[in-house]
Order: sequence, then C-alpha cells, then structure tokens
Amino acid sequence: MSANGQPIEHLDVLIVGAGLSGIGAAHHLRGAFPGKDYAIFEARDDLGGTWDLFRYPGIRSDSDMHTLGYRFRPWTHAKTITDGESILDYVRETAQEAGIDRRIRFSHRVVRAEWSSEEARWTVEAERTDSREIVRLTCGYFWVCSGYYRYDEGFTPEFDGRERFRGEIVHPQHWPEDLDYAGKRVVVIGSGATAVTLVPAMAEKAAHVTMLQRSPTYIASLPAEDPVASALRRVLPDKAVYSVVRWKNVLLQTFFYQLSRRRPRAVERFIHKGVEAALPEGYDVDKHFKPRYNPWDQRMCLVPNGDLFKAIRNGSASVVTDTIDAFTETGIALDSGEELEADVIVTATGLNLLFIGGIELVVDEQPVELPKTMTYKGMMLSGVPNCAFTVGYTNASWTLKADLTSEYVCRLLAHMDAHGYVKSVPEITDPTVTEAPLLDFTSGYVLRSLDQFPKQGSKEPWKLRQNYVFDLRSIRRGALEDGAMQFSRPAAVRPPAGTVVG
Ligand SMILES: Cc1cc2nc3c(=O)[nH]c(=O)nc-3n(C[C@H](O)[C@H](O)[C@H](O)COP(=O)(O)OP(=O)(O)OC[C@H]3O[C@@H](n4cnc5c(N)ncnc54)[C@H](O)[C@@H]3O)c2cc1C
Repeated sequence: MSANGQPIEHLDVLIVGAGLSGIGAAHHLRGAFPGKDYAIFEARDDLGGTWDLFRYPGIRSDSDMHTLGYRFRPWTHAKTITDGESILDYVRETAQEAGIDRRIRFSHRVVRAEWSSEEARWTVEAERTDSREIVRLTCGYFWVCSGYYRYDEGFTPEFDGRERFRGEIVHPQHWPEDLDYAGKRVVVIGSGATAVTLVPAMAEKAAHVTMLQRSPTYIASLPAEDPVASALRRVLPDKAVYSVVRWKNVLLQTFFYQLSRRRPRAVERFIHKGVEAALPEGYDVDKHFKPRYNPWDQRMCLVPNGDLFKAIRNGSASVVTDTIDAFTETGIALDSGEELEADVIVTATGLNLLFIGGIELVVDEQPVELPKTMTYKGMMLSGVPNCAFTVGYTNASWTLKADLTSEYVCRLLAHMDAHGYVKSVPEITDPTVTEAPLLDFTSGYVLRSLDQFPKQGSKEPWKLRQNYVFDLRSIRRGALEDGAMQFSRPAAVRPPAGTVVG
C-alpha cells in the first residue's frame, strides 16, 4: 500500500533511462517476454539520452554505426560516422516501431530503490521533474540504463579571471540554441572527442577557431562512409551487409586495440605518420599531436575524412598547445606569455561521471556503498539482487556491450521463470578474488570519479574484459549457474496486501 492507502503499482521489470541502452533493453525484453509488464522511467521529457542532450555544432558519433547500432536493427545509411540527429532518429524509430515509446514515463527521475528479500521485490521512488511529486512502485527486476555521466552539468575547471571575459563562454553540454558565432574568433578549450568535433564544424562559419589544448590526444582519420559497406550494398540485402560490416569492424577494432596494448610504439608511429601526411609540410606534429601516454591509455579520437586536419590546412582552424594563465577581457592569457583573442570561448573540458544515475540503492535495509561492491560481468553488483546496469565498452562501441547485457538479462529472467526462482544475486564465493579499480583509463574525467565507482575483480566473472569477442563466450554463452550467481525460490514470499499488477 502507498502512504495514501492506494494500492501500489507492480511491474515485472523497471528500466531506468530512455537512451540508446534503455530503448535497446526494452526491445530485447519485449521480444523475449511479450507477457512481462515493464516501463521505462526517464528523467528528461524526451528519449534519446546523449543524442538528444548534446546539440553543439557537428555533434556526431566517433565510432562506426555498424557497431554503435543495435545488433537487431541494421544501420542502412551511407555514412557510418554519422551526425547526432540521425542517431536520435534511429533510436526514436526503434522505440516507435516496437511500441516502446508508449511504455516510457517521462519526467520521472528515479532517486531511490530498496530491495526486500522477504518480498523478493524492489520498491522504487521517482521524483517527477515537472511537479516534484514522489512516485512509488514495486518491481521484480530493476534495470538501470542511465548512461555514465551527470546530465545537469558538464565538467569545467576553475579558470582565473573567468568573470572578466567580455565575450560568451559556453559548455558543449548546454549549447545555447541561438549562439551566433559566424565571423567570430572562437577558442575551444580541450582535446577530446568533443573538441575535435567542434573545431572543424565551427570553422565553417567562424572567422577562426583555435583548439587550445594542455596536451595532445591520439587522433586518427577514418572514412565517413565505409567503402566495404558501400560495395556490398550493391549486391547484398541490408541485413547481410550490416552483419558482415559489423563483424569486420569488431575484428579490426579488437585487433587494433590489442596491438596498441602490446606494441604501443608501432601503433604510435602508424598514427603519427597518418597525421603527418594529413598536415602541411613543416607542421609541428610532435608538439600538437604526439601524446605523452600510450595509445588507448585514454580513449582515441576519430575524425571523419580528416576534417580537423583539413581545417588546419586551409587556415580556418589552428591548434595551440599551452596552459592557461587566466581569462582576460578579450581572450585567454597563456603561461607561455602569448594571448589568444576570442569572442567566444567553448569549454570542451568534459563530463562529470555518474554511476547508475546517482540512484540510492538499499538492500534489506542496508545502504549499498558502491565502492565496496564488485561488478559481475560488468553488468551487476555483488550482493545486489535482481538488478542489472548497462554500461558499454570504453574501447569499442557502447552498444556492443549494451546488446550483450540485454541478452544476458533476458536469459537470466527466462532461467528464473523456468526454475521458479524469485531472486538472483551475484556473490563473491571465491576467496582468491582480489579487487582492482573498475577502469584502467588515465583520462582526467575517469580519475576524478573512480573512487565513487564499484571495483572489478582479478578473475572471471568479476574481471572487466572490455573485449567483445571474449564477452560473446562469457556473456552470450556462459553458464548462468556459475557458482557466483546465487538463485533462491520464494521461501515464504507473500506480496504485500493491496498490490495490483500492471
Ligand atoms: C558527445 C558524446 C558522443 C559520444 N559518441 C559515442 C560514440 O561515437 N560511440 C560510442 O560507443 N559511445 C559514444 N558516446 C557514449 C554514449 O553516451 C553512448 O554511446 C550511448 O549513447 C549511451 O547510451 P545510454 O542510453 O546508455 O546512456 P545515455 O545516452 O546517457 O542515456 C541515459 C538516459 O538515462 C536517463 N537517466 C539517467 N539517470 C536517470 C535517473 N536517475 N532516472 C531516470 N532517468 C535517468 C537520462 O536522462 C538519459 O536519457 C558518446 C557520448 C557523448 C557524450
């Protein structure tokens, strides 16, 4: 019963988040269990997550759509590195065609979820972002597809003299719709995926765009259209083309990543040569494009058809590698003594990471302290029953792992139904498993938040492999009863009085 005496709603599965992952999760779920009752609670007032939130010029994927697309829905457009709007359309169409959009409850931010082993269910609290009303319901399985960063604010370091600057300062996460930068001098602070996307896009209209970076990033150019996909499309149906190109890309990316870890010098030389060939003779490639870390110690940036290098070559953009002393009235003073004049400054300085959407978890009256938990197959938490989260790969397309997570959750639910289990919980039963940080990236945005994250373990199923080919075996085909996943039948489970289903 709810506080006002009304019967409380019960769902079989509650999904949090209507982004690429949440819509994918719902698609798998409704396909496997047409009879299960589910809903998606979404904090915002539209679906699409990342691809709806980010509106800066040039917003695009930085991995190919043959692997960023769902396994179940071929990407049929010519461009494989594509714009944000096309990705949003793809997610929206997936939701509409399957009727998933009718299951989304917008403006519902999930804030708390409490598990009761006695009742074998979660009680979930969501705050309505429009009316601040608190909504409560129960569910049998709780599936968090909340992405990996805070939606309310991006990361901006403190800059001395910020208030003195007379021009406009914008963060890519909150792009003003009416920002007019035509004919203006723009400085983009940052060297990550967002900065390298923004610079050539803004350079088309701005007087000049300067990318101001503290240190360089690995940047590789890729054709925006996949030549193999274009050729195959003439002779094969869409589904077959998608499958072939997806596998080609998975294998190439896995090979390149493994090579980067094992032969970093060779990969570094290879990338360096590509950059050198794309830039004018005499350009100081070492200063601006030679990172101080090994390839894939941080996420690598891809630029479609070398657009960033073209903008540098035609003079509409330039790169400055220096550190900021202070903002001035007219631009940015650098530690080298140089000053960059600017009308608009874009702080492409990153995201604030957030695990499971900031939701407070409680299990049998004990608050869950995330850093004390360990991730099971990179999708569940030790000691937390009937709960999964979807987080993609950091070294490959997000959706490869998101689809595998969905397949695993559906397999698990089918197994529970078949055996009459009402509870499944990963437990660390092997005393030789030791803990390690969840991610081994050295990027600032990862290091800033790593202490608030769960850990990974030293061996399977607790080790995070970040390897799709490995995960196919472990997640798609691995045994569900593996000794770590513990199942229980209802000992004396009675649904609370007044429960309505659906
Ligand atoms: C600019 C940018 C470009 C990217 N490009 C790529 C790329 O090319 N390739 C790649 O693999 N990855 C890329 N990523 C990572 C990207 O976020 C994922 O590819 C993918 O979009 C994540 O989908 P998601 O649904 O898991 O998360 P999101 O897109 O973040 O969606 C999560 C949803 O959950 C909702 N939510 C969060 N918390 C709550 C809560 N407590 N209650 C209710 N709702 C909640 C949010 O409002 C949001 O709608 C990019 C990320 C960014 C920021």
